[in-house]
Amino acid sequence: MKIIDFHVHLPYRYRDPVEAAGRLIVEMDRAGVERAVLIAVEAGVKTFRRNVGAREVKRALGEVLDFVSLSRIPMLNKLVYDVEAGIRDHVALIEEHRRATWEVVEASRAYPGRLIPVASYCPDKGVDGTIRDNIEPFKDEILGVKIYPTLHFTSPSSSKLDKLYRKIAEINGVVIVHTGCDPGLWELPRMCRLARPKYVAEAARRHRDVVFIIAHLGSYSALMPGIYFHEALEALGLENVYADTSAVDPFFVERAVEEVGSSKLLFGSDYPYMVGLTIRDVVREILELGIPERDKEAILRLNALRLLRERGRL
Ligand SMILES: [Zn+2]
Repeated sequence: MKIIDFHVHLPYRYRDPVEAAGRLIVEMDRAGVERAVLIAVEAGVKTFRRNVGAREVKRALGEVLDFVSLSRIPMLNKLVYDVEAGIRDHVALIEEHRRATWEVVEASRAYPGRLIPVASYCPDKGVDGTIRDNIEPFKDEILGVKIYPTLHFTSPSSSKLDKLYRKIAEINGVVIVHTGCDPGLWELPRMCRLARPKYVAEAARRHRDVVFIIAHLGSYSALMPGIYFHEALEALGLENVYADTSAVDPFFVERAVEEVGSSKLLFGSDYPYMVGLTIRDVVREILELGIPERDKEAILRLNALRLLRERGRL
């Protein structure tokens, strides 16, 4: 089966986007992945600084302090012992992992037919700046845009995003929304509270002509796996809402198929962010699920194929 991976990023160890894409293609070939949706990551240091101060972090830590001490997550522990230094580490993390929209577009041009680029919202630029710099110049190439409610400190249901969503409708594209927690201080439930599938559902009800994809099934969380899983299942009841399986414990993927069926689920590896796992490992997790073979094929290929065809991308 030729697999379609609906959620990958460029390996961050290679700064040159084309070189990074070469590395990604090697991984895809090993896993039998024919095409991958390559997602940009733009965060805003200004927005981060505005939203993350010592008081806010201490409050978020205080809510789950027992979990944090037990979890031994180094970035969280550092915040407990030295909040300012911990915050500086996060700024460095953002700088290291950002991938501009132009980089994923350039990577996709080097491997036509293999990589499908997705733009990122940029909170420092706002909606107008994002449309001007990240959507308009690449509108014939990109599949859509991604919102990271965690990194962006923006709710997907915020009315300020309506203009961006209308722009995506114009290009017959998709909006991918990060849901659940995120590494670092975004593991704290208070810091990921905007990344809830119910807010994606709100936006999807207002914009029926846009397909919304709930990344991570609302489930990714180191402290509380499955944190918003049930909201994701509920949101999947809307016709224009899909979800991807990236960074989701296989237990929840299986449960999702049992509860809502496989027709709205898209395979995603989140390569290279599943530390220690190759794309092939993540494909194997799907192949080993205790669900019918036809559901595995739907998740690994057929649903993505249908979605891409409907949007004129194949
Ligand atoms: Zn991702």
